[in-house]
Amino acid sequence: MTAHMLDGRAMGAEIKAELRGEVERFRQGQGRAPGLVVMRIGGDGASGVYSKSILRIADEIGIEARVEQLTTLTSNTTLRSALLQLNANPAAHGILVQMPLPVHLSQQLVAETIAPGKDIDGISIMNAGDLFLGAARFLPSTAAAVIEILERTQTPLAGKRAVVLGRSNVVGKPLAMMLLQKDATVTLCHSHTANLPAFTRQADVLISAVGQARLITAEMVKPGASVIDVGINVLPGGGIVGDVDTEAVSRVASALTPTPGGVGPLTNILLMKQCLQAAWQAIPKD
Ligand code: NAD
Repeated sequence: MTAHMLDGRAMGAEIKAELRGEVERFRQGQGRAPGLVVMRIGGDGASGVYSKSILRIADEIGIEARVEQLTTLTSNTTLRSALLQLNANPAAHGILVQMPLPVHLSQQLVAETIAPGKDIDGISIMNAGDLFLGAARFLPSTAAAVIEILERTQTPLAGKRAVVLGRSNVVGKPLAMMLLQKDATVTLCHSHTANLPAFTRQADVLISAVGQARLITAEMVKPGASVIDVGINVLPGGGIVGDVDTEAVSRVASALTPTPGGVGPLTNILLMKQCLQAAWQAIPKD
């Protein structure tokens, strides 16, 4: 068997084209574009690259995006007031706080302060709670990207066995909830899981969000499974690979996302989709 490679770039281009039309419809109806603010606190070179790529994608879609830069010395009190100001600013439909925060700042404070209606990466307490209760509004974008790939490729989920590796708040945990919502039988594995292959071999849909190069070998995959590789690992030589040994696993799986070019390209585009959704929802009802 040779796995069908699930092309995230092609899916991303399709969604971008859909969004461009809808953003234009919003702009014509409302007299202004949807607005996005990326809050960046301190930051190294890598996070600069991240905010630039968000601004580029926003620009391609027609969303008006800007970076609000705070210094590394920002206190929790200042961060809170900056977020409250954005919450009250009608031009900021979506707010994205760039993670990770400097260590002295509280992620919990961000989750408690950011307005749920502007929280386009689903990190607020309210949005996390809504997801848990099965009434999600804004989803964590990487988890949403995985579901988007599964849906666009019509991968059956109801009644299927889905195994997720990784239990972070941004990927593994929300993904498990979303798969449950789609009627999959979900197993969540993590760093303390004993005998990992015994679980992965049962998976009709196997999703790895660990951050360990070549963790998933061919022997760990059920023949015919769909495998989604969320991991991003920089090799000592400089190349980027996922968690899955792509070449070996592609001989066993029926479908597989490549890295790069799988989940990654969809993540930021789905942030834009949720920003547009936030903008529509912000229109006052008469
Ligand atoms: P994290 O470090 O917060 O979580 C990693 C998880 O892996 C933990 O829950 C841990 O328990 C689990 N884990 C560690 N060793 C394991 C093992 N041997 N077996 C099973 N589980 C194990 O990371 P994260 O933020 O959730 O990201 C996970 C990976 O996804 C990273 O490589 C990250 O770079 C990547 N990522 C990709 C995108 C994207 O857009 N493609 C976005 C976010 C994160």
